[in-house]
Amino acid sequence: MTEKVVVLGAGYAGAGAIQRLEVELEHADAELTWVSEHDYHLVLHEAHRVIRDPGVAEDITIPVGDVVSPSTDFVQARVESVDTDEQVVALDDEEVEYDYLLVALGSQTAYYGIPGMEENALTLKGLDDAREIHRRVKQAASEASRNDPAKVVIGGAGLSGIQSAGEVAEFRDEHRAPIDIYLVEALEEIMPGQDSELQGTVRRHLEEADVDILTDDPITEADEDAIYFDEGEPLDYDVFVWTGGITGQDALDDCDLDNEHNRVTAESDFRTSDDRVFAIGDSAIVDQGNDPAPPTAQAAWQAAEVAAQNIARAINDQPFETWTYDDKGTLVSIGETAVAHDVDVIPVRTFNSYPAQFLKKFVAARWIADLTSWPRALKSWSSL
Ligand SMILES: Cc1cc2nc3c(=O)[nH]c(=O)nc-3n(C[C@H](O)[C@H](O)[C@H](O)COP(=O)(O)OP(=O)(O)OC[C@H]3O[C@@H](n4cnc5c(N)ncnc54)[C@H](O)[C@@H]3O)c2cc1C
Repeated sequence: MTEKVVVLGAGYAGAGAIQRLEVELEHADAELTWVSEHDYHLVLHEAHRVIRDPGVAEDITIPVGDVVSPSTDFVQARVESVDTDEQVVALDDEEVEYDYLLVALGSQTAYYGIPGMEENALTLKGLDDAREIHRRVKQAASEASRNDPAKVVIGGAGLSGIQSAGEVAEFRDEHRAPIDIYLVEALEEIMPGQDSELQGTVRRHLEEADVDILTDDPITEADEDAIYFDEGEPLDYDVFVWTGGITGQDALDDCDLDNEHNRVTAESDFRTSDDRVFAIGDSAIVDQGNDPAPPTAQAAWQAAEVAAQNIARAINDQPFETWTYDDKGTLVSIGETAVAHDVDVIPVRTFNSYPAQFLKKFVAARWIADLTSWPRALKSWSSL
């Protein structure tokens, strides 16, 4: 019997897995279907670059046809829901049946019920978001003056917030634009939960880039002019971007898989509460003992290989591989510069400037090369 294997999502998790599945299932009686809303893979962890320069978009998008062979059926559509009883995925205007399903739909922005946040904040979860932030920053700057600068406020000081603030600062400097930049974080320090040496180095770079950092005071409300804090004075804004957290996709709202806030809970072999469904990347909370795997590109990329192998193993009735997340370190850009921390091939704990910048570019380029080829990756080099 032909096994129908369906992969949902074309991010790091989905793109990595589909490529590996093509290899694993080459000689199996299986049909591969890949579903995603766009017909390209987006190197999302570099999407903040588009805030400074929309021209970067071309270099960080890879057409699906460059990722998979023609024998894989690609369906460009939005996933609306997953019915695990019927083994069917509902799309915009059709249904796809599966024998094995890999959920790799990534995440969406979490608003934590903060009044006015969803209605008033811009988000950064894709190319259109990044282009819109660029447009709004540019427009605000064009209406501002040295005496009355535009205020760009970024809420949430994790990887996306910090890197976005860095790109707005580069835009300001390149265009000599009158912009004040604020980075707001509810917790005591930026990059919450990370090593203090890394936090301190990133903070120093942000301050050198003239980003005002406000910490230890949660946002309690937002309206169309200002954000409001638990303790501090309200902060008015011209552009407000919220990158303060992630949650699972609405498409997983009604499915019967065990989940936490629509992020599907999965074992360390990516099995979910349904034997026929596996989940990886930001879409999943993958058990790793004490802490689940982090919602990062790095983790999704690593997980993809093993998840694909395990789907092949399920088809062949073989025991599953378990996966252990291997933290290879952190790379953060602040505009043109970068900070690297705990990178396993380099003996220095935290470093910055050119070596870190090179390494960050190299890691993104290697991902593009893995998916396509080194010549394609090198074409993108200047944008990374
Ligand atoms: C600005 C920014 C900077 C970041 N920087 C870093 C970094 O420096 N390092 C790092 O490790 N991580 C970083 N991250 C996090 C990283 O990008 C994510 O953890 C990673 O993208 C997760 O991969 P994924 O494949 O699970 O999801 P995604 O890459 O988000 O892919 C999800 C896929 O599913 C598709 N999809 C979603 N919903 C639907 C639907 N309903 N129907 C059809 N298709 C759908 C999407 O279009 C996409 O193709 C950053 C994220 C952002 C936003």
